[in-house]
Amino acid sequence: MIRYSRYLMPTTKETPSDAEVVSHRLMLRAGLLRKVASGIYNYMPAGLRVLRKVERILREEMDGVGALEVLMPAVVPSELWKESGRWDAYGKELLRFKDRADREFCLGPTHEEVVTDLVRREVRSYRQLPLTLYQIQDKFRDEIRPRFGLMRGREFFMKDAYSFDADDEGAVESYRKMYEAYCRIFRRMGLDFRAVEADTGSIGGSSSHEFMVIADSGEDAIVSCASCSYGANVEKAECLPSVATTTQKESGGAKEGGPCSAPVPGATKGEPRKVPTPGKRTVEEVSAFLSIDPATLIKTLLFETSVGDVAILISGAHEVNEIKVKNHLGADYVRLAGEERVREMTGAPSGFAGPVGLPVRTIADLSVRSIASGATGANEKDAHLVDVVPGRDFVPEAYADLRGIREGDPCPRCGGTLRFSRGIEVGHVFRLGTKYSEAMRAVYLDEGGKERVTVMGCYGIGVGRTAAAAIEQNHDGDGIVWPISIAPFEVAVIPVNVKQVDVMAAAEHVAADLDARGVEVFFDDREERPGIKFKDADLTGIPVRITLGEKNVAAGFGEIRDRKTGETLRIPLPELADEAFALVGKKKAECSP
Ligand code: ATP
Ligand code: MG
Repeated sequence: MIRYSRYLMPTTKETPSDAEVVSHRLMLRAGLLRKVASGIYNYMPAGLRVLRKVERILREEMDGVGALEVLMPAVVPSELWKESGRWDAYGKELLRFKDRADREFCLGPTHEEVVTDLVRREVRSYRQLPLTLYQIQDKFRDEIRPRFGLMRGREFFMKDAYSFDADDEGAVESYRKMYEAYCRIFRRMGLDFRAVEADTGSIGGSSSHEFMVIADSGEDAIVSCASCSYGANVEKAECLPSVATTTQKESGGAKEGGPCSAPVPGATKGEPRKVPTPGKRTVEEVSAFLSIDPATLIKTLLFETSVGDVAILISGAHEVNEIKVKNHLGADYVRLAGEERVREMTGAPSGFAGPVGLPVRTIADLSVRSIASGATGANEKDAHLVDVVPGRDFVPEAYADLRGIREGDPCPRCGGTLRFSRGIEVGHVFRLGTKYSEAMRAVYLDEGGKERVTVMGCYGIGVGRTAAAAIEQNHDGDGIVWPISIAPFEVAVIPVNVKQVDVMAAAEHVAADLDARGVEVFFDDREERPGIKFKDADLTGIPVRITLGEKNVAAGFGEIRDRKTGETLRIPLPELADEAFALVGKKKAECSP
C-alpha cells in the first residue's frame, strides 16, 4: 500500500502551456512526468508504475509466443551499422559520437544490426530455428520535432522483437504469431485500435502492419472499413477501380495493369476535336465551360521525379496520391513541376496539359480507363481537346492505382464503406526478409548441410507512446480514466478528514483488507481539503475510489465510486472491501484479451 503523504506525485492545477495534446497535459498535471530536455523526461514514481504495467503485459505476451527476452546495449559501435549500410543511409535521427579512442558509436534507435550480429554468432543449425528475441530497452532517436510528451520523445522505451526463421514460410508464421500477440496486448490495455496495412506489397498481401490507436490527436490519417477489419494508411489505401471499369475485371482489379492500347468498346469514332477554352484551367472551370461531367475530364499532372519527368493522368473527379506515384515509379522523390517546367514539357502554360502527343512518359490512374470519351488539355494556351479516347488517342505506359482514397469509397476487401479517422501508431510489425541477414551474413546450415540465410521479421511497440495513447482515448474533463490493467494503482482510499479517529480507522481497515488481497491501494492520508483530494483522485485516474466521510462512517457506511462511470454506491462498512474487490475484478475482466 502506498501512502500519499510519503509519495511523490506532485499534481498541479495549471495547464502547462507547452503541452499541446491532452495526454501530455494530464501526465504533467498528474505528476507522472517531468521534462529534463526536449523529448527527454524523468519518469516520476506513479508514471513509472504505468510504464512497468505496460511492460508487464508486453513481457507476458512475448513470453507467451515463445520469444526470449534479452537486453542489448544502447551504445552501438558504428561497424555494425556500416555492415548493414545504414550508417550512411540513416539520417540525423541517429545520434553519433566518438569514444576517447576516436571510435565511432551511435545510440541505438532500433536494433536490427545488434541482434543480427548476436544471432549470426550463436545460431549455426536449422535446429536452433525459429528463434525470436525481444527486449524492452531505452532507444534514442534525435527526432526533428519531439513533441506531445511521451508520444514523440527522443529517449524512449521500446519493446522490440526480432524473429529468425529458416525460410519464408516460417517467417510468415512468426509474423502471424506476433501480429496476434499484438492484438492481445492492445486489447488487454483496453484500447480501441486497428491494425492497418502499412505497405501494400503485391506478393503475399501486406508485409507490414501498423497498430493504430484511434484518437483525434493522432498524427496518422487512416481509413477503416465499417463492415470488415480492413484498415490502411490513407496514403496507402487501395482504391477500387471506379464502377464503370468493373467490366474490365480480368485486368486484375486494383493492381497495376500493363499498357492498354485496345480502344474502349463503344467509343466515339474519329478524331479528338480542339475547342477554345480561354483562361479555363481548373477542372471546375473547364467542365463548367464545356458543360461536361468533371469525371470525364482527363486531368494531366506533370511531375519532376528522381527517375525523370512523368505525366500522371487521372479523372477530374479524383486527386492524385503522390506517395502512390512515388511507389509506382520506385522513385526517391516526386514533385509537381512548376510553371516554367510545365511550359518546357508541354509547350503551354499550366492548366492546358494533355496526353495526346505529349512527349513525356505517361502513366494513368485506373479512373482514366473508365472514361470512354473525355476532354483534356491540348498542350496549347487556351485550348482543350474533346472526344479524346484513351487507348486510341494516347496510350499510357501503364494503368495503376494512383488516386487518393476518399471517405465513403468502397472497401477494397469487402466493398463496405470506408471511414476516415486519426490514429496514433503504437506498434509496428514488419517482415524484413533477408535484408539484414544477407548483408550481415546471418546464416545457418540446413538439414542437408547447406548454408542458408535466415529470414527475419521485426516488431516494435513504444511503451511510453502506448501509455500516452491510452490517455488520449481514456480521459474526461476531470483527468485520466485509466484502464485498470495499466493504472498506477487500482483503488484510491480517501479518508475525508484524517483527524477523525473513526474515519481514519475505517479507511485503514478497508485499505489493509484490499492490500492483503493483492489489490494495489493508494491511500490518500494527506491533511488536505476534501475538494483537493477528490480532484487529485479524478486527475490521476485511479479506477476505483473509496471515500470515507464522517457522516457515512458514523452511520456504518462508506462510498465506492467508479472513476469511469461516476457511479457511486453507499455500502455498509463490513462489505466495503468485498464490493471494491468485485469492482476491481469486473474492470480487470473488461481488459481481457
Ligand atoms: P513514427 O512514424 O511515429 O516516427 P516509426 O515508424 O519511426 O514511428 P518504428 O521505427 O516502427 O516507428 O518504432 C516502433 C514503435 O516505437 C512505434 O510504433 C512507436 O510506438 C514507437 N516510437 C517510435 N518513435 C518514437 C518516439 N520518437 N517516441 C516514442 N515512441 C516512439
Ligand atoms: Mg520515426
